[in-house]
Amino acid sequence: ADVAHPVVVGIEAAAEARDVVPRACGLPDGLFEHDGQITKRPMRALTLSALAPRPGEHLWDIGTGSGSISIEWLLAHPANAATAFEADPRRAQRARSNACALGVDCLQVIEGRAPAVLDGQPLPDAVFVGGGLSAALLEALWARLRPGTRVVCNAVTLESEALLAQWQAVHGGTLLRIELAEAAALGSRRGWKSAYPVVQWSTCR
Ligand code: SAH
Repeated sequence: ADVAHPVVVGIEAAAEARDVVPRACGLPDGLFEHDGQITKRPMRALTLSALAPRPGEHLWDIGTGSGSISIEWLLAHPANAATAFEADPRRAQRARSNACALGVDCLQVIEGRAPAVLDGQPLPDAVFVGGGLSAALLEALWARLRPGTRVVCNAVTLESEALLAQWQAVHGGTLLRIELAEAAALGSRRGWKSAYPVVQWSTCR
């Protein structure tokens, strides 16, 4: 048997080993440099599906982290545009280099804290909030976004989840609770290792 090429490999390892970038959203996490702050593949695929990029549209990615959401938005169509906002300078730099490595160097990364960093920025067609979610941020978005702008927010903490529940009661849209678990070693056997549940609110301004 050729042990160097086992028949069964994880899909992430397979994609990396072949040095190709798949066309579907939800790229392997290993294609992005990151420090642990990254929206993981299955959640990223669901998030891109909710953001629903159409050719030529512009995304604001607030709390871009590794840049993975913006990068997949840009990969969806060559005419797409994305502006990524990130408070942490090292992560902002990493998002830039990830974008270049994956061939979408048109990603604009702006360092600073939302909502202040949004001032004066050209308005988007869709917004993703992956970090920095607060009442002040949602109010700032509602004050300036054009009606019809798609907004998707992911919340992990009880506090941000409560905020999304309140805003959905007033503004409508879809609240989705996503609970994922992956099989992992548990002693000599296997068990389901749960990720934190994520509450995702998708709506239109
Ligand atoms: N979607 C990202 C992960 C986001 S983690 C990815 O796939 O890589 C959340 C990020 O939000 C962190 O990098 C954090 O530094 C950033 N952040 C938190 N509060 C912020 C704020 N008010 N403005 C901008 N960025 C913020």
